[in-house]
Amino acid sequence: MLNIIIFGAPGSGKGTQSENLIKKYNLAHISTGDVLRAEMKNGTELGKLAEGYISKGQLVPDDVVIEMLANVLDTKTDVSGVVFDGFPRTIAQSEALEKILEKRGEKISVVVNLEVEEPELIDRLIKRGQQSGRSDDNLETIKSRLDVYKSQTSPLKEHYEKSGKLATIKGLGTIDEIFTLISEAVDKVK
Ligand code: ADP
Repeated sequence: MLNIIIFGAPGSGKGTQSENLIKKYNLAHISTGDVLRAEMKNGTELGKLAEGYISKGQLVPDDVVIEMLANVLDTKTDVSGVVFDGFPRTIAQSEALEKILEKRGEKISVVVNLEVEEPELIDRLIKRGQQSGRSDDNLETIKSRLDVYKSQTSPLKEHYEKSGKLATIKGLGTIDEIFTLISEAVDKVK
């Protein structure tokens, strides 16, 4: 099994490169952001709870997202691997993911860390907001998402660096150029 975490700040290209990964390596894709947005659209209890956090650019509480992730993963049977997109975002989530995978006799294969400078991230997210209509792609919310990334999510880099799983890739260039570098990192652990 190929279990890939695609890691990076909001706007770093996680979603786009996840699509490329699932096609090339025939993997399942779990985007916690997409799952939460679907819950919001369907007006479920989880969606209503998530909306308050997402609209402010804050993280949805760990216990909620961890349970959701475990449930979604249970539906991905008979797959050759999974791309985790937007999860884990905290140390607690990464510890939970390790336990969840361990129970299934699996582990993380590689953590693809997409590095993009902050002004470029802000630029991309504002542009995306004009097209996607995503309520959290406005300047104020973008700024809090980037702060949350710095304080709560980026410490995970050191965690995965220590376990030798981190593959850092510069997320600037064309989508194809970046994907070539990502594929090289994945092929090493395949
Ligand atoms: P981006 O990475 O571009 O901000 P996502 O779609 O991954 O977009 O996430 C959007 C929002 O959904 C986040 O700002 C956060 O509020 C919520 N979210 C997504 N994944 C998680 C997670 N693993 N833990 C907590 N909140 C999450």
